[in-house]
Order: sequence, then C-alpha cells, then structure tokens
Amino acid sequence: MVVVMKERATEAQIDKVIARLIEMGMDVHRSSGATRTVLGVVGAHKIDPQLIGILDGVHEVLRITEPYKRASRAFKPDDTIVQLDDVRIGGDEVIVMAGPCSAETDEQVMASAAAVKRAGAKILRGGAFKPRSSPYSFQGLGEQGLQMLRRAADAHNLKLVSEVMDVSQIELIGKYCDIYQVGARNMQNYTLLRELGHVRKPVLLKRGISATIEEWLLSAEYILSGGNNDVILCERGIRTFETATRNTFDISAIPVVKKLSHLPIVADPSHGAGRRDMVAQLARAAVAAGADGLLIEVHPCPSEAWCDADQALAPDDFATLMARLDAVAGAVGRRLASASKERAAAVA
Ligand code: PEP
Ligand code: MN
Repeated sequence: MVVVMKERATEAQIDKVIARLIEMGMDVHRSSGATRTVLGVVGAHKIDPQLIGILDGVHEVLRITEPYKRASRAFKPDDTIVQLDDVRIGGDEVIVMAGPCSAETDEQVMASAAAVKRAGAKILRGGAFKPRSSPYSFQGLGEQGLQMLRRAADAHNLKLVSEVMDVSQIELIGKYCDIYQVGARNMQNYTLLRELGHVRKPVLLKRGISATIEEWLLSAEYILSGGNNDVILCERGIRTFETATRNTFDISAIPVVKKLSHLPIVADPSHGAGRRDMVAQLARAAVAAGADGLLIEVHPCPSEAWCDADQALAPDDFATLMARLDAVAGAVGRRLASASKERAAAVA
C-alpha cells in the first residue's frame, strides 16, 4: 500500500508513521516529493489501512492495485536513477552501452571498446556466457572472455555489462562486471532473479521474448524484493507474426513502462531489428519515446562476428549514429551523455 502524507506533515509525524509500519513488520520506502511525502509499504502480511489512516499527518492510505508493488510508480513516484560512479542511468542524460555480442579475442574486444568509447558510449557490453538457440553454436569464452572484457573496459575507462545465465555464474561474473545482464530467455528464471536480489550490483533485465509488460515488471519485482533496488529494464523486441525483422521492437513499451514504473528503461535496437540497416532508426525512435539509454552491438568487423553478425554495427556507423542521436535527445528534453559538438559537426 501507499501512505500519502499531508502537505504540511512534520518530520516527526512522518518518522512516527514509518516507525509504526516497521513495528508492524512492514518494509517502507520513503519518497519526498516537492509538496508531499509518499511512503511505499510492502510486507509479507496484510495490515488494516485504518490503523495507519488515523495517525497524525496522514492524508490517505491507498492500495497498490498492480500485482508488482516495489516496481510500481505508486510505490515510488520519483524516477529511480542507477548510479555507477559518474554514470547515471535514468537521469537527464541518455546513456549508451555498446560493444560486441560476445567476447571473441583480445584484439576484437579491445578494438570494440576503443571504438565505442571514441564515439561516446559510457558502458562496454559483451557476453562471455551466451544463450544460443543451438547447442552447437559458439557458447562464449567464459572466464577468459570476462577477463578480456574487463581489461578493455578498464583500458578505456568504461563500465562493463555482461550476461549471467545461471545462479552458479553470479560470483564469477561479479568479479568482472559492473552490471549483470539477464537475457530475454532468462527473464522468468525466478531462481536467478531471486539470487540477483541479494547482489550489490545493478541488474539489466531484458524483456522476455513473449513476455507482457506486467510479467516483465513482476520479474523486476523478484530482484527488488530481495533488496536490490538497482534494476534497469531493457526492451529488446518481442516475438510476433512479423518476420521482416528478427523481433518486433515494441516502442510503446517505453512510455508504458515509464507510466507504470519508476525504474529506468533502456532499449536494444540491435536485437529488436536483427539487421544492421535498421539499428540507427530504431535507436532514434527509442530515445524519442523516452528511453534512458541504449544497448547496441558493435563489432570491429561485423561480417566476421561469431554471433549476431547480421545486426552488429561497424565502428564508423556507430559513430555516425551517436553523433546524430544528441539532436533527438535534445528534442525530448534530454542530452546524450557524452555529446560533443565537434562530433556532431563532423557528420552533419
Ligand atoms: C545479447 O544481448 O547478446 C542477447 C543475447 O540478448 P537477448 O537476451 O535480448 O536475446
Ligand atoms: Mn547478441
């Protein structure tokens, strides 16, 4: 439930309400808005709202009608910002995470990191554990891949996001990455989500291939309910009857999620399109729709990529995309994290 305090509620009154709720065994999240304080309340058992409604300073007590609680906008009206040093996901700036689908060689990872950094990305992406449709396809380099990715991220002052497929990999991947990625195929791996609720690193939660937005937010709830508040959602396209693109990129999911939840949402136009000639358009559309960031596959030699070769961008194409993105961000009141006027002028 949500406890809305009166506009002129005093700090002492707010503290008293919080103390009473904690005494009743509830978890409380306080949001202090410009005019009112709102308390998001969850717990294993139901409490009588009237017991709280009569306390001094309380304006009203509302039920959260959505099945997810902590992930809902009602529970926490202000946007969540996931912060990694100076990189803030969910704030004014649009943050770009880019790199290869998977780590292949030291040279390939290093060249990818150099290229995405040069173009303005803040976070290096790359998988060392790959969820492939076929058991005969390349499955990733494992720890060796993580080492390559970490070295390249450090060499170029980038943060690192990498996929975790199973509970048994959490500890190992945690030694190398800054953000855990949960792939589309694992969005409903509830054991994994529960464990990630106990880690102290952000989790990028991709939307399942055929998941509704409600199911996706319920998956986020698994992580949040374990005590990890740093969840970043990622729209990466869903499976529909359409075959012209690899997936159908659900642009409307972005404003829908923004309305329903306080969590940041980024978009992955690479997996959304599945073909490199459409990645830039979808990236611009996502930013225009309100995405807090992008996840884009970039490879020094796309046609030779060991996985997802059709959708990887060459470094030059990525740089062009980045230079043009700031204008889109500006049109919707945002800015690209590393936008540089010189870069934009270079491709204008
Ligand atoms: C990926 O990011 O390379 C990936 C496997 O994505 P998804 O889980 O969205 O298919
Ligand atoms: Mn991929």
